[in-house]
Amino acid sequence: MIALLALLFLVKIMTCKEVEKIIPSFIDRTLDEDRLEELMEHMDTCQICKEEFSIQLLVSEGMERLESGSSFNLSHSVKRRMEMGRNQLRTKEKLNRILLFLEGMIVCGLGVCIWLCFYARG
Ligand SMILES: [Zn+2]
Repeated sequence: MIALLALLFLVKIMTCKEVEKIIPSFIDRTLDEDRLEELMEHMDTCQICKEEFSIQLLVSEGMERLESGSSFNLSHSVKRRMEMGRNQLRTKEKLNRILLFLEGMIVCGLGVCIWLCFYARG
C-alpha cells in the first residue's frame, strides 16, 4: 500500500517535471497540440504547475513589458495565455470533427457508388 502511494507520488512528480520542461514552449507558442492538451489538463488540477507557469510567464513576458515601459498584469496574462491554449485546442477539435464529417461523407459516397454499380443498373 505504501509502495503504491509512493509510486503515485513519483508519477505525479514526474508529470510535474515534464510540465515544467514544456512550459517555455507553451509560452513561446511552439508546443504541439497533444502536449498542449496534457499541459492544460495538468494545470487545471495542479496548483504547483500553474504557479510555475505564472513565474515563467512573469520572467519572459513581464521583462519584455517592463523594458518597453508598458504595464503588466500577471494574473491577467496567465488567464489570457490559458484561454489562448484552450482556444487552440478547441480549433483542433473543430478541425477533427470536420475531418471526421468529410470521412463520413466519403464513405457514404462510396457506398452510394457501389450500390449504383451493383444494384441500380438497368
Ligand atoms: Zn504539476
